[in-house]
Amino acid sequence: GSFEELGINPQILKGMYAMNFKKPSKIQERALPLLLSSPPTNMIAQSQSGTGKTAAFVITILSRLDYTKPKSPQALCLAPSRELARQIEGVIRSIGQFVDGLTIQAAVPGAVERNAKVESMVVVGTPGTVLDLIKRRQFDTSEMKVLCLDEADNMLDQQGLGEQCLRVKNALRNVEQILLFSATFPDAVMRYAQQFSPGANEIRL
Ligand code: AMP
Repeated sequence: GSFEELGINPQILKGMYAMNFKKPSKIQERALPLLLSSPPTNMIAQSQSGTGKTAAFVITILSRLDYTKPKSPQALCLAPSRELARQIEGVIRSIGQFVDGLTIQAAVPGAVERNAKVESMVVVGTPGTVLDLIKRRQFDTSEMKVLCLDEADNMLDQQGLGEQCLRVKNALRNVEQILLFSATFPDAVMRYAQQFSPGANEIRL
């Protein structure tokens, strides 16, 4: 398979080629047709780290945005640590480097000033900070379409984090697609994942 056959937008493809992605990795080959299909569907994807999971959800997020709404948060990616959130932000900036009008920001501790509004299409954050921003009405969730959890096993496993993720999800009333990516899904976590992302397509490599 090729990335072109998946119907990925040329501006996104250009960023992928700039990063030297020549053809889809195994997880991308299996997941992207489902991730990009219309109408959007939920997904739970398990694959080792280093297999190209990040790019799979980043391509999906960039493909789902309404570029006529540059100030509306439309996709949210949650990670268990600010370091991982920053890393994902970097991948989105790289793959999205040729995408006109793309706006991205991090919502991690210290990144958003008090009273400042979150006005980027893609937000990458940690659950606690995102929840605070929503509570303080600095983060308008009405246009949020895609929610993605990276290291979902970590996020849904820990009492506090899992609870925060659920609260965030419940605040995104118009969400269309919930994506859970992780290197592992222990049985107990998988049951919770299936509730979190109802009816999800499941991919295990
Ligand atoms: P990840 O599994 O998300 O940690 O990604 C592992 C590494 O693979 C990263 O350095 C990516 O830039 C790279 N990568 C992801 N997808 C592809 C691809 N289709 N072709 C070549 N490299 C890729």
